[in-house]
Amino acid sequence: MVNAHAAAPDLVELVNQTVMARAVAYWASVLQVRQAQSPLKMDRIGTGCFKYAFDTDWRCSGMQSPTCGTLTIPDKYLRAKRTCQEVCGPRCSGSCVQGNSCVCNTTEWLLQQDNYCCFLTPQSGCPSDCSLATATQVGSGFGGAFVCEGTCLDAPEGEGAVGEDLHVFVKIEDSVECQNSNTLLAYAISCGVDQCDRPIFGTINFCPSQLSTSPDALNGIISTAVHELAHVLVFSNEHFRNFRNIDGTPLVRRDSTDPRLYENEVRYTCSASGSSWNNTNGNRRYVDLSPGILDAFDERGYNCQCPIGTETLNQGCFYPAGPPYLQLPSCVVRLKTPTVLREVRDFFDCPTLPGAELENQEGNGCSIINSHWEQRVFASELMAPASSEHLIDTYVSRVSLAVFQDSGWYNANLSAADPLVPGVHWGYKQGCNFATAKCVDGGTPVSRHFCSSQNQVSCSLDRTSVLGCDIQQLDAVPPVYQYTPDNGIGVSAAYDYCPHYTVRYTNRICTNSNSVTVPYSNVNFMKEVFSAESRCFLSTLHQDVPQDGGGVFLARAEDFVDDRPVCYKVVCTSDGRSYQLQVAEGTGLVPVGVCSSENQKLTLAGAGGTITCAAPAEVCSDLSSLHVLGDQWQSPSEGPTTTFTATSTATSMTATSTTLSTRSGVTLTTLTATGTSTLTVSLSTTSRATLTQTSTQDWEPEQAINMAGRPAASMIAVVLITSIRTYM
Ligand SMILES: [Zn+2]
Repeated sequence: MVNAHAAAPDLVELVNQTVMARAVAYWASVLQVRQAQSPLKMDRIGTGCFKYAFDTDWRCSGMQSPTCGTLTIPDKYLRAKRTCQEVCGPRCSGSCVQGNSCVCNTTEWLLQQDNYCCFLTPQSGCPSDCSLATATQVGSGFGGAFVCEGTCLDAPEGEGAVGEDLHVFVKIEDSVECQNSNTLLAYAISCGVDQCDRPIFGTINFCPSQLSTSPDALNGIISTAVHELAHVLVFSNEHFRNFRNIDGTPLVRRDSTDPRLYENEVRYTCSASGSSWNNTNGNRRYVDLSPGILDAFDERGYNCQCPIGTETLNQGCFYPAGPPYLQLPSCVVRLKTPTVLREVRDFFDCPTLPGAELENQEGNGCSIINSHWEQRVFASELMAPASSEHLIDTYVSRVSLAVFQDSGWYNANLSAADPLVPGVHWGYKQGCNFATAKCVDGGTPVSRHFCSSQNQVSCSLDRTSVLGCDIQQLDAVPPVYQYTPDNGIGVSAAYDYCPHYTVRYTNRICTNSNSVTVPYSNVNFMKEVFSAESRCFLSTLHQDVPQDGGGVFLARAEDFVDDRPVCYKVVCTSDGRSYQLQVAEGTGLVPVGVCSSENQKLTLAGAGGTITCAAPAEVCSDLSSLHVLGDQWQSPSEGPTTTFTATSTATSMTATSTTLSTRSGVTLTTLTATGTSTLTVSLSTTSRATLTQTSTQDWEPEQAINMAGRPAASMIAVVLITSIRTYM
């Protein structure tokens, strides 16, 4: 392949042993797949190809290996192919010439040999020994012919990816795409499909400069790998048109003569200089998928100029790519296959919602439909285009899993979605207006996610910190982005430039004990508490503070009229349905009361103002994502106990009990020293998943991750490629 440079070993190990292992395990545990014809292989690409009238296949003078992104598919995964640089077919005379074309009866030809009116003689470019004795018969009777071939090359049949349903090549390469972005962590492409158009090969590239072995970064990287695998498996504008009905027939009707062509397919060109619609030599292809898969909507001021439900494309379909322009698409496009429709209505709690909105602004301004959910309504969801800093960890919704179900390629276990909490997980149960209306209209936000002026601050959705409003004023904005009377808009195109709370103040993190109080950093008038158990609440609570050496700092009531986001400690009940709220009192804490419902007001004797309660679910729920745990996502219940032995140089051991992970329910129950070099560790789990022993494995260049123990119908093998051009 290409010149090899050693990857940073710790990054290789991170990606191979943890990141991809868990991402693969997650999808393998969630999905069942309709089996592809096995083993998985791709076709070599012929060059200099032509076809005689009697040929069914193309004859080619050369061949190339297919690529997947920048990766050339290794021979092992390719089907056999024969190419010949010299090819010569029949020539005719006399009675074999009918209507200016040669009609040979191969049966007669074989009988009469050179006496027949068809003959093979060396001609320019033909093999010199071209004769019936050396020629290859193609077909028979009048439909057949004899063909001579010379200087041929036979590429052998590769063994393919055996026993796998998807084969993914993983690279850690500082590619051009990586170098062109400060934030790109990984990207993926799929290549090659099975007999039902399901993708069977893919490449994922991780940008090395964005990879980190820091434990804090791990979940985000795993989420990214799960996201990229979803692109390879199903979630792509290249795949939507290939979705199948439950009986395996294509959702979009195919051409009767060539099933690779779609009904209503057009090709178009698109570049920075403009687009040319219905160009048969175009660099892009498009199928009008509505009404079965997608629909377009004119809402929030958009006026769809794209060919969805129409036969023409207007230039307005595409937006000018990149700064300094505001990216201004013309369409709102939604995915509306049955399971997606049902789940997205439930997600937003909007029974009339017509589908799940796709992102309409991405890096490439030439796409008519895109390969992510709309960031404005699905921020932090797995298939949103960008991870959302300071909002909440990436989560997997049932809406994304529904896309797998509706592809017709997979059965998806929708209960493998992450548990969601209204108010915490962006958009969840936020209603029809949130899903369809402008995020901010006339200066009024549609929900507490959004804001309208620079000096606004609020609690983060997960209530662990205080966030500021990300907004800037422009001289003028297009009507669709007219959110405030003073032309305030957010900075992110993917959010439709919606101003929202995302500016983090490093000294206003409730869970960080080094944070400082408001409105004055030196006097804790609002009785704030910063601790691991602190959460953010809107409050006007205030009290005078005694001064050292006598006297008090006066908390003036007029300074505490408006709610501020402040931090107080919470103690949740075991059922999570209420929590006690504690505020600072001198160097200690004092309970204010119990919050059991949203917007309940608490007061404190001797202090002015009130604290507004948050819904107990927002404060007391475990908000960690499950999908990062690989196949250990399942909810806790009784599980097996596993023991394994490890080697230690310790001379004595103490029995202990440690919970390794509350979420996966894995508990280290015993630690037994036997002798001086062997210790037995006993693990028990309350999760349904089977515990597997983890051990250090020697890594081999093409190591298929062992998927044993999982349903055979959902095996995904991952191969990490080391031999690549540049490793950082
Ligand atoms: Zn993506």
